[in-house]
Amino acid sequence: MRSMPTATNMGRVINRYQVVIIGAGVAGCATALALLKQGIRSILIVSRPETTGFKAGETLQPLATGLLDELGLLEDFQKTLYLTGHGSCSAWGSDELVFNDNILRLHGHGYALDRLTFDRLFFDKVESKGITILNDSLVSLEKHPEDQWLLQLKTGGPIKSSFIVDATGRQSYVARQLHVPRIQFDDLHAVYTFWRGQSAKFSRHSFVESVENGWCYTAALPNDIFALAIFTDKSTIKQYQLKEITNFRAFLEKTQHSKHLLTQTSELIQMSLAVANSSMLDRIGSNHGWLAVGDAASAYDPLSAIGIAKAMADGLNASDAISQWFNNKPKAIESYAQQVQTAFNEFLKQRYRHYSTERRWTHSPFWKSRQEWTSVHPERNLIRNQHTSNRLRDRVLSSLELQSILTLFNDVRPAHEAVRAYQNHTGNTHPDWKIIQAIGYLINNDFLIAA
Ligand SMILES: Cc1cc2nc3c(=O)[nH]c(=O)nc-3n(C[C@H](O)[C@H](O)[C@H](O)COP(=O)(O)OP(=O)(O)OC[C@H]3O[C@@H](n4cnc5c(N)ncnc54)[C@H](O)[C@@H]3O)c2cc1C
Repeated sequence: MRSMPTATNMGRVINRYQVVIIGAGVAGCATALALLKQGIRSILIVSRPETTGFKAGETLQPLATGLLDELGLLEDFQKTLYLTGHGSCSAWGSDELVFNDNILRLHGHGYALDRLTFDRLFFDKVESKGITILNDSLVSLEKHPEDQWLLQLKTGGPIKSSFIVDATGRQSYVARQLHVPRIQFDDLHAVYTFWRGQSAKFSRHSFVESVENGWCYTAALPNDIFALAIFTDKSTIKQYQLKEITNFRAFLEKTQHSKHLLTQTSELIQMSLAVANSSMLDRIGSNHGWLAVGDAASAYDPLSAIGIAKAMADGLNASDAISQWFNNKPKAIESYAQQVQTAFNEFLKQRYRHYSTERRWTHSPFWKSRQEWTSVHPERNLIRNQHTSNRLRDRVLSSLELQSILTLFNDVRPAHEAVRAYQNHTGNTHPDWKIIQAIGYLINNDFLIAA
């Protein structure tokens, strides 16, 4: 079924679709391709034009090969420009180099991409299948009484849709319009640079090196280009003014290994700032006809280098859920959301374990904040701090949920008692460790104090 124009009382023509996807990154395009396979053909994608130059995120994990195949993209991908990735190398926890070779893993080699070419592959495939990608931005959306979404775009006319997919990346623009909180677990940012002129020291391993305030990343890319990035908290980027190239180089000089990858002949092509936090929507979708995919649903620390593969997997899983939703099985959306949430919780545990292996700078706020897991003693007596003027943010849990935890501490009580009371009240919607982490956040930010 293709789009069906319908007249409105305003005299304008509204196009109507079964599914409208906002965002034509990997997640949005993968969802569209997978929906086609499910027999859903009335699809529109609305997306802002992509950046020119270079896009951050170019290490593709070996397991992506199978996903590309499932999406019908493997053959086309193999004709594009990439380098085979031999694995990763890191100096993490000590100055010693540790290699993790793909050859020893199940899925074979990985890839070092020209990321815009890679994203373009998805875009072109979607268009070649007859799906329109409108070069536009979503401005607002509302649900109409006849159970259709009405979408207003920046330049194009209004659009109606039965189902809407948020594929807008970390901005999660659709969810934001629906007032769904985005829960952040850190404030990681990257100063991302691209250079021409790889030195002889480059190998086909992506390279990560931890430093006192964060970590550095380097990867050799096609056409003699390489990516070099500093990952740290936003406050550190501001403090050291890392977006100035001289300060960027000075920061790099403090590393043991990464500094040698940048030579006098390396030519800077692009420098940009990227948000790289670990974050997730408080709700990934609803039976009322929407869900989120890719980074919009849950965004992982780029250290995991799994975001692109996850965007493809989300697209495949989401298309299953959407197809079931159209077949009057609305609970499929809840199952999809649960799957995304469970995977994210598992990622959080791995993230903690990985950051905890770096013990050289335990005093550094960057490492300290990532090495705290459930640091609240269960017997610790706490009370709400009535005098704080700090504003609650959506950290660990939504600010609404944090607010209801706070009310449990209107009188003095031990932490473990509050966890039980909260879990009984909400029916265990989160694992215990997350509630304890939330209490840790409330203590660290002066909302709770020792009684
Ligand atoms: C610094 C950094 C390094 C990374 N490195 C890696 C890596 O090495 N390997 C890896 O696998 N992953 C990496 N990632 C993660 C990976 O890039 C993402 O997981 C992946 O791009 C997610 O794809 P997506 O389609 O969900 O979102 P995106 O790629 O962000 O695409 C979102 C799309 O939505 C559009 N859009 C946004 N808002 C609107 C709106 N209101 N209206 C219309 N369109 C809109 C945007 O223009 C864009 O086209 C990295 C991420 C960062 C930040």
